[in-house]
Amino acid sequence: MSFQLDTNRLRDAVVELIRMASTQLPEDVIQAMATGRDREDEGSPAKSVLNFMLRNAEEAKKNSTPICQDTGTNIHYITIPVGVSMRAVQQTIIEATRIATEKAYLRPNAVDSVTGKNTGDNTGEMAPYFHFEEWDEPAIKIQLALKGGGSENVSAQYKLPDNRLNAGRNLEGVYKCIIDTVNSAQGLGCAPGVIGIGIGGDRASGMLIAKKQLFRLMTDTNSDEKLAELETRLYDDLNTLGIGPMGFGGKTTVLGVKVGAAHRLPASFFVSIAYMCWADRRHTMTFTETEVTYD
Ligand code: SF4
Repeated sequence: MSFQLDTNRLRDAVVELIRMASTQLPEDVIQAMATGRDREDEGSPAKSVLNFMLRNAEEAKKNSTPICQDTGTNIHYITIPVGVSMRAVQQTIIEATRIATEKAYLRPNAVDSVTGKNTGDNTGEMAPYFHFEEWDEPAIKIQLALKGGGSENVSAQYKLPDNRLNAGRNLEGVYKCIIDTVNSAQGLGCAPGVIGIGIGGDRASGMLIAKKQLFRLMTDTNSDEKLAELETRLYDDLNTLGIGPMGFGGKTTVLGVKVGAAHRLPASFFVSIAYMCWADRRHTMTFTETEVTYD
């Protein structure tokens, strides 16, 4: 039987998803920050900054107010049942985005790149951003990330080989790119960051894969053994760079490192790096014909 889409119900559910994403840090991110805070030295700026961030997150949740003044770009990864109209889902989310902006869960963040005019409601060309897939489940799954501009500014893309980094077309070369990105950012992008990496693909699909990694739990383990090793090695080594929270120095430069990969052309080897700030706002909603759940 085909999935009956009630767009009013979906709209209201998405407004709540946006509210949650803007005002509540996911529990695994809070845990990763608390782990970082606990390993920092007593009295260090790093410990104070992480304490401040954790208190900020707690207050935002309690008062239902945005965690950061920049509520970011709304990025949706959506999975729909066969037969559901992609266009109807998209229009409903756009409507929900306007409502969420009116309710001040989102700051107006969509600026026309030609005229410089802010649309005032977070909608416009490619705003919000949607990526659709289909599945056989009788549910619509919406993964929403609010990605801050400062963190997007320090995201990066490399083409291997890279002579400056002495990085070849292999996982060692990929490793060097990530170290370079985080080192170049220093505290910019609001460290501690979460690093989503896409190996391969083309310039667009590589970044798509990198951003998709940002929905993984801090605590999960990559199913690919080689990528799992790379994630652990990068997490450990990035946290010895000494950059620390907001660049104040310390042992917590990143909260997590997540790597995905795609096939590539023989002629190209891209490494795409999506840097997410400590305000790692992401939530997932599962919407069926009868209920809605949020993670
Ligand atoms: S990068 Fe993140 S934490 Fe920093 S100002 Fe932007 S949204 Fe806020």
